[in-house]
Amino acid sequence: MTSNHELFQRALRLMPGGVNSPVRAFKSVGGEPFFTARADGAYLWDVEGTRYIDYVGSWGPMIVGHNHPRVREAVERAVRDGLSFGTPSPAEVTMAETIVRLVPSVEMVRMVNSGTEATMSAIRLARGATGRSKIVKFEGCYHGHGDSFLVKAGSGALTFGVPTSPGVPKAAADLTLTLPYNDLAAAEALFAEHGGDIAGLIIEPVAGNMNCIPPKDGYLAGLRELCTRHGALLIFDEVMTGFRVALGGAQAHYGVTPDLTTFGKVIGGGMPVGAYGGRRALMEQVAPAGPVYQAGTLSGNPVAMAAGLAMLELIQAPGFHDALAAKTRLLCDGLQAIADAEGVPFSTNRVGGMFGLFFTREKVESYAQATAADTALFNRFFHGMLKRGVYLAPSAFEAGFLSGAHGEQDVADTLEAARGALREAKAA
Ligand code: PMP
Repeated sequence: MTSNHELFQRALRLMPGGVNSPVRAFKSVGGEPFFTARADGAYLWDVEGTRYIDYVGSWGPMIVGHNHPRVREAVERAVRDGLSFGTPSPAEVTMAETIVRLVPSVEMVRMVNSGTEATMSAIRLARGATGRSKIVKFEGCYHGHGDSFLVKAGSGALTFGVPTSPGVPKAAADLTLTLPYNDLAAAEALFAEHGGDIAGLIIEPVAGNMNCIPPKDGYLAGLRELCTRHGALLIFDEVMTGFRVALGGAQAHYGVTPDLTTFGKVIGGGMPVGAYGGRRALMEQVAPAGPVYQAGTLSGNPVAMAAGLAMLELIQAPGFHDALAAKTRLLCDGLQAIADAEGVPFSTNRVGGMFGLFFTREKVESYAQATAADTALFNRFFHGMLKRGVYLAPSAFEAGFLSGAHGEQDVADTLEAARGALREAKAA
């Protein structure tokens, strides 16, 4: 039998850090990653046959659970007709119709192949449409690995202590202005100084790449007003929140309308997909309708569209998101009760099927608070959970996800594991 360790040793010689995306390497939590052989419902099985209850869900896409038969069958049907055409295909039209129907601020959409591509393209459009160069992002927010975004970035960049990456030219970084998340006064001050130069402000409407931090009441509405006043575009990066925190995404949940929205993860059903969209007048500036260039050999791939459409159909079932939110609440409340009983400083955040766990007594509303929580305790807890068959994101700075496939028994088993893992982690 191939072992996780043996695979990782081979991988380390062949790929940077042994992986194709940094956080997967377990570097910040320590130890070695497991190699997944297959996934079904709420579970992953590694190559050694160990089963894990999965709260990562491929970092968000697997909202109906892994290997859902309807998604798999849609992909199998699509594959029979060919893998890529390089011409328009009917599924792209259905996909665009579906997104436009579910997210009213999006009147036109362009499919791409990843969240990174979606955000890079949205920023280009914002610059092209406004004729301005500067963009505003938030400390600890992650929008993929485009040059403009690797400035005070979250996710792996934060996990590995390189929030501003070497290799990003100073000229590019200088065009990115950064703000503390959830601080409207700071945003007002920045716009007062630079408002006329700002093409767009991009934000994760629920931050999910510095752990999970929801916006304060009125914060998103305040940013909306600020952007409108200064002629800057408000871009919601809903790569993580889209179709997850509510069917219509965070913009539906909070009732705030952005100018542009980026998507990824859930719309691809587990295939490599992203998208950006917004008002017709803006999107008509994208090539070939307009001059802002953006293209993709595999964009709108028929197999990816089939997977995404099957997924989007499943999550439109009445009550899907309410059930997801209820299970997420059960998990978070259960963990809080156990931590309280064990005397471990702990707090949680959650919106819909997205959650964050923090080893601090404070309610976490900022990047500074998230980074001040006890990451060493998180790392011990992570390994205690893994040993007990529960897979949390291998970093204190990532959000967790539930899926429609997680049952109450899975949550109960997770809480049981947490009791042991917390006891062990605090004793160490
Ligand atoms: N935006 C957000 C909010 C994300 O969470 C991510 C990925 N985690 C991205 C953009 C980048 O997406 P991708 O990894 O598909 O390039």
